[in-house]
Amino acid sequence: MKTKADFRTLCVHAGELKDIQHGGAISPLYPSTSYSFTDVKVGQYPRYFNTPNQRGLSEKIAALEGAEAGMIFGSGMAAISTALLSHLKVGDHVVFQDDLYGGTRNFVKHEFPKYGIEFSFTKGLLAEDFKKEIKENTQVIYIETPSNPTLKIVDLKAVSAVAKQQGIWTMIDNTFASPVNQNPISLGIDIVIHSATKYLGGHSDICAGAVLGTKECIERVFSSAKNFGGSLSDYTVWLLERSVKTLFIRVQAQNKNAQLIAEFLDQADWVDHVFYPGLASHPDHALAKEQMHGFGGMLSFNLAGAIDSKKFLLSLELIKASMSLAGIETTALSPHLTSHALLTEEERLAQGITPQMIRFSTGIEAIEDLKADLNQAYKKAIK
Ligand SMILES: *Cc1c(COP(=O)(O)O)cnc(C)c1O
Repeated sequence: MKTKADFRTLCVHAGELKDIQHGGAISPLYPSTSYSFTDVKVGQYPRYFNTPNQRGLSEKIAALEGAEAGMIFGSGMAAISTALLSHLKVGDHVVFQDDLYGGTRNFVKHEFPKYGIEFSFTKGLLAEDFKKEIKENTQVIYIETPSNPTLKIVDLKAVSAVAKQQGIWTMIDNTFASPVNQNPISLGIDIVIHSATKYLGGHSDICAGAVLGTKECIERVFSSAKNFGGSLSDYTVWLLERSVKTLFIRVQAQNKNAQLIAEFLDQADWVDHVFYPGLASHPDHALAKEQMHGFGGMLSFNLAGAIDSKKFLLSLELIKASMSLAGIETTALSPHLTSHALLTEEERLAQGITPQMIRFSTGIEAIEDLKADLNQAYKKAIK
């Protein structure tokens, strides 16, 4: 299928496998770990990322990101660690955005020193903040936008222009936006990574990751990936393909609900501040509007001082107080107590994370039910 088809059509049909034997409507599942040689050199094998289901799903997700090629991994972290290490060697340097997914931050801090790879974090999120950290040995600039949990936006065109001038690879963790809301390759970014555990899976029942880029980039990633061995079981690949078919309608519903919740919270006297790029008052609203197709399903807000944040979370009835995000069910958490608990107090405050902050992942439920749950919860949590 040509990648020029409409995004919705690609979600359903790109990369699908035909059931030639029985004419079934969906891609057959091929869980085989052994295939007879069609050519004596290269066999199909799950850890070579080249079984029929793996190739079909890679093609689908690559099509959604407008990428030449892609690979599916056993988790988002397998995708991130493999993408990074395949592009780095001892003595290289990486510039990381300061507001980074906690698991990525831990990976970098724990593993990079062992391999002699240097790194620094930006002091801000402007293109010049990235430029300032570039050194002679910088090989990769690594971005995450919208950021977690304060939903700040990085100008992808500007950062990729800085990187291109100096022959540096750019990588982005595009998990929060999903391919529905942002396609970084069209803005000049080289490698796009997803935790497919989030929007691509969308039902809180799959752990997976994806890396997308040019054929050349993906070949480089593959050359390390087959050694690290982080492939995904074909059973899960098959399930993930089913999820991606509904990606567009799910994320569109989540975008819509998030905008309505953000506007509702913005008006509420029990909320001090709302972080959502879809609000005109968000400092990066204009940039988000320019580089994104939608503002996403993620938002954060600070409860007013009179509300006990822990009690608020525990008083929610319909909305789940839970660690994960991007599922069709709405979830909320305290970054201070959970996702960002491992950071020092200083690091948290530098990112604007206080104990009053709630991170909110909007699902597809009826908006009135979500509002009613928030309203009853804050009333129970008044100090
Ligand atoms: C969850 C997440 C990851 C890690 O993905 P796993 O599938 O849990 O390994 C990476 N980046 C972001 C932004 C995430 O939300």
